Amino acid sequence: MTNEQPLDRRQFAKRLAGGAFAGGAFAGGAFAQEKVNPQNRPLPPRATASKADGAVFGTNDRMHVRTSGTLGDDWFTEDAREIPVVGDYDVIVCGAGPAGFAAALAAARSGARTALLEVHGCVGGVWTAGMLSWILDAFNKRGIMAELLERLEAQDNGRRVQSAWVYHPEPMKLLLEDMLVEAGVRIRLFTRVVGAVADGKNRLAAVLTESKSGREVWTAKNFIDATGDGDLAAQAGCGFDFGRPGDWITQPMSLMALFHGVRTDDIAPFVNHLAEARDLGRGKVNFLAELRSAGIDPSYGGPSIFEIHDGLYAMMANHQYNVSAIDADDMTRATLEARRENHAMIQALRKKGGPWKGLEILATGEQIGTREGRRIHGRYSVTDEDLKNGARFDDGICNVRFGIDVHSTDPGQTKAIESKPFKSKPYDIPLRALMAKDVDGLVLAGRCISGGFIAHSSYRVTGNSVAMGEAAGVACAVAAREGVLPHEVPFSELGAIAAG
Ligand SMILES: Cc1cc2nc3c(=O)[nH]c(=O)nc-3n(C[C@H](O)[C@H](O)[C@H](O)COP(=O)(O)OP(=O)(O)OC[C@H]3O[C@@H](n4cnc5c(N)ncnc54)[C@H](O)[C@@H]3O)c2cc1C
Repeated sequence: MTNEQPLDRRQFAKRLAGGAFAGGAFAGGAFAQEKVNPQNRPLPPRATASKADGAVFGTNDRMHVRTSGTLGDDWFTEDAREIPVVGDYDVIVCGAGPAGFAAALAAARSGARTALLEVHGCVGGVWTAGMLSWILDAFNKRGIMAELLERLEAQDNGRRVQSAWVYHPEPMKLLLEDMLVEAGVRIRLFTRVVGAVADGKNRLAAVLTESKSGREVWTAKNFIDATGDGDLAAQAGCGFDFGRPGDWITQPMSLMALFHGVRTDDIAPFVNHLAEARDLGRGKVNFLAELRSAGIDPSYGGPSIFEIHDGLYAMMANHQYNVSAIDADDMTRATLEARRENHAMIQALRKKGGPWKGLEILATGEQIGTREGRRIHGRYSVTDEDLKNGARFDDGICNVRFGIDVHSTDPGQTKAIESKPFKSKPYDIPLRALMAKDVDGLVLAGRCISGGFIAHSSYRVTGNSVAMGEAAGVACAVAAREGVLPHEVPFSELGAIAAG
């Protein structure tokens, strides 16, 4: 216990500048770089292990190193400090969503020593932490996407519904993890990529991460940014586009929810694909009317229910407008509001009774669904013209069938989905759109690849993200083996990743 009142930030800074804290915790006007462990004993000397595949060295007491620097009124200037290099790989993949999963798997299967860094506590991104349950644009894909569908079917996880595969997100987590472990990928969860280090020749050489293990550095021959939002590429200094040209507004976010306690036959008029199949009208329109009759006007004008199996359903019924995926305050506000809205909808329907009387929410996504973040500049940018013309490329890595799909950016939502500016035809994504333009040794995969606002609304769905990840993984593995940069690998050397 102490009688001293807590200082506010300004008082603290003044006292710090005056060197008021002497000895012990603070000394000389700055935090002392005193290394202590919980028992307050000095740390052992730094371990001297050499930088080997996956070797972790240094001490696990790094979290007990006090941050050293100078605190001013507006900025804290951190002192330079040593950060352990904890692993050296052929390929490091940042972000373990559909794109990152496929990238790491493909790289490892191509013989590369591969690490996968993910901030959440599971692999799968929007598929799992985001509880999506609906894979689009998957059926014309070969390679990993086709294999994944086969394995889901073999595990009795879901089925084909019209142009989508519907699945249960929980067993999906295990399947993805098993596939990565089988291939020898080193998975590191709970680890956020926070910085990038280039060598003197504009080549990415290392990434910095933060986690319970403290700040760490990871080196590799090649890196893949599969963070969805292009975090790594931005940290490396790559140029990017964000949102709609002119006002930079992005598509709204949606938080997915799972519910149970009802039967399909009873709620069929409100289930997306079933209502039409059973000639019960349109599921979204019916569900909107049902929510309104329960006293809820949802923020998304096209609220949707997806049947995973009889008794288990996914719901996408909210929109969070004008949220920046690269602003933590925005993301927090959006998540809190969306979770509240999901719970309110379920409670209102349950109260309404009838087919809903046993309704219960099972879970909401740990991660709010982000439709778009940064679109990193690549050596090619997918354009409106490509969609209009149904472009085919010699270095095409997948053929996109999913059309233009811009969720309304208008909170007034006269329409849930914006009118299509033109009709698109199936088109290829060229490998060059995955190759970062401004930094070497960096490949993009998933929704952060290089393309325009409209093109992104079409290619972003997960069947395409998997194909992009696979191509990125193979390109990086071959480049590491041949001792060249990924964009220098001839397309013909990449095996069977060509567009189907
Ligand atoms: C509400 C919603 C509905 C959608 N509906 C469909 C649909 O029905 N079907 C479909 O196929 N697609 C759908 N999409 C898919 C989607 O549009 C995405 O484009 C898709 O998730 C892209 O995959 P990705 O791997 O690029 O990104 P993500 O799935 O976002 O994965 C990125 C991963 O990187 C991790 N990460 C991010 N930053 C860091 C960092 N700094 N350090 C470490 N890890 C990091 C994240 O935690 C995440 O695991 C939907 C998306 C949303 C939001």
